[in-house]
Amino acid sequence: MSKKQILNNSEVDPNKILPMNYPWARAHYKTGVSNNWVPEEVSMQLDVEMWKKKGSRGLSDDERKMILYNLGFFSTAESLTANNIVLAIYRHITNPECRQYLLRQAYEEAIHTDTFIYISDTLGLDPNEIYNMYKTIPSIKEKDDFVIEMTKSVFDRDFKTKGVENIQKFVHDLVGYYVIMEGIFFYAGFAMMLSLLRHNKMVGVGEQFQFILRDETVHLAFGSDLINTIVEENPEIWSSEFKKDLVLKVKKGVELEKKYAYEALPRGILGLRPEAIEQYLEYVADRRLDRIGLLLEYKTANPFPWMSEIMDMRKEKNFFETRVTEYRTGGQLDWDEENNTPL
Ligand code: FE
Ligand code: MN
Repeated sequence: MSKKQILNNSEVDPNKILPMNYPWARAHYKTGVSNNWVPEEVSMQLDVEMWKKKGSRGLSDDERKMILYNLGFFSTAESLTANNIVLAIYRHITNPECRQYLLRQAYEEAIHTDTFIYISDTLGLDPNEIYNMYKTIPSIKEKDDFVIEMTKSVFDRDFKTKGVENIQKFVHDLVGYYVIMEGIFFYAGFAMMLSLLRHNKMVGVGEQFQFILRDETVHLAFGSDLINTIVEENPEIWSSEFKKDLVLKVKKGVELEKKYAYEALPRGILGLRPEAIEQYLEYVADRRLDRIGLLLEYKTANPFPWMSEIMDMRKEKNFFETRVTEYRTGGQLDWDEENNTPL
């Protein structure tokens, strides 16, 4: 077995997945597969009716604006994420079980991209409007620009992960994508769309966001494990200066996401105030910092305990179970993590 080193390991054979070094990567892959879904499973009929209805039985102007903002952000953000995995991260992570997960994640991002095509088509939205919002809406553009800027060095064709400084750059990219993009920039949108779902509005879109949230939870867990492993294997990169920079970037991300939330929802809607979204983002950011071994920054209480309930839902009787079990018929392979062999 090659020595445990995820970056710059010349002994790794990317075609030889067994025996494995990183059982967590395998575990996330299996979770991803058992969460399989496609957007067409969710009926959009009630959404189409509600979207077209005018007056008090339909949606308010504020709700409509909020929905459009989130569709605008997510419709292009999913492709941005997919491109980063395939073009920047995959190249440098040669470990085969991590690559297997990255391929799975890339597929899930394709499913998410497809979800927004499906929503646009069924609601009859103008694609030129939705797919240009990342350029025309300042608070969306700022979020995307921030992530692109943060990950610039790794997109350089000549970038190599050799040396302390370059490993730091790589971890900095991973924090930009996994922690800030997928872990913070998606969360005001999740809270908004799932709050609508709780009030029985746009239930199809809400259910799609619920599926996406479940996938993103796993992406985030993989990204955090990847970051933690690189840090563990290269402790010299984890200087107080580097940590300070990462915390600064997370805080900047939180500010941009708050700005986005206020623009999407300036007055609030039933059961959802922009101030509460602000608090929620602080709470979420603390969870992200903690997951990668950084100190909590905000210590804000969770204003939306129902969000955690939605995330835990798959353990209970609910729509996830009825749908997801259909995909489990392929038979789960039991894995002995100690020996990296099938049981
Ligand atoms: Fe996604
Ligand atoms: Mn993702």
